[in-house]
Amino acid sequence: MKRQDAAPVVAALRDYVRYLQRLGVTELPLPQSRGAVRSVAPVPAATRLQQLEESVRHCDRCRLHQGRTQVVFGTGNAEADLVFVGEAPGREEDVQGEPFVGAAGQLLTRIIEAIGLRREQVYILNVVKCRPPNNRDPRPDEVAACRPILQAQLECLRPRVICALGTFAAQTLLQTEERISRLRGRFHKLGEMHVMPTYHPAYLLRNPQDKRAVWQDMQAVRRLLEGHSANASS
Ligand code: SF4
Repeated sequence: MKRQDAAPVVAALRDYVRYLQRLGVTELPLPQSRGAVRSVAPVPAATRLQQLEESVRHCDRCRLHQGRTQVVFGTGNAEADLVFVGEAPGREEDVQGEPFVGAAGQLLTRIIEAIGLRREQVYILNVVKCRPPNNRDPRPDEVAACRPILQAQLECLRPRVICALGTFAAQTLLQTEERISRLRGRFHKLGEMHVMPTYHPAYLLRNPQDKRAVWQDMQAVRRLLEGHSANASS
């Protein structure tokens, strides 16, 4: 803008400032500079999880919503280093709204305590959030429909270690057809997270001879959480 073009603008601004002074205005807020970066406090994982839970409370993305009592989202410490992922809610879980209650849940609690943690220190969830009828296996389209919720949960939680309980959770997380007996016993990488597949507590109730294998897997998890290297296989 040329000097002579600016003169009327400056005069108008001067008149406006005098007008404000007559009104008693003594200060004007300065606008933020264009390049200024506003600092935004990070939203805690617990808050993000709570918002996610609220957003899926009435989910009807797959047929499982028809027979459920409620969405069984997950429970535990949102800041946990260790997350357990199971398959799907059973009858008790569907009624209580919490994963791993009942006999398998009690065994999972003992497994957690065996590595020196308490249940409330970890986070527990399932691949599929609604109970399949008659406790049948979730179908591939149901898993696919629920996968974005699982991914969003893990994105909020970002644990160091995920313990995948049983074939179904391990195959879903690792996108493989391998059997649990071949997957367990070593860590697998999932982004920055380490996944340890092991037998499902419900399977252990029927096959107690495999408790020793789970004990070994959980000792590896404990060592990793204590800072030892993982020796991940993939
Ligand atoms: S199983 Fe998952 S995708 Fe299907 S209705 Fe329940 S929350 Fe939604």
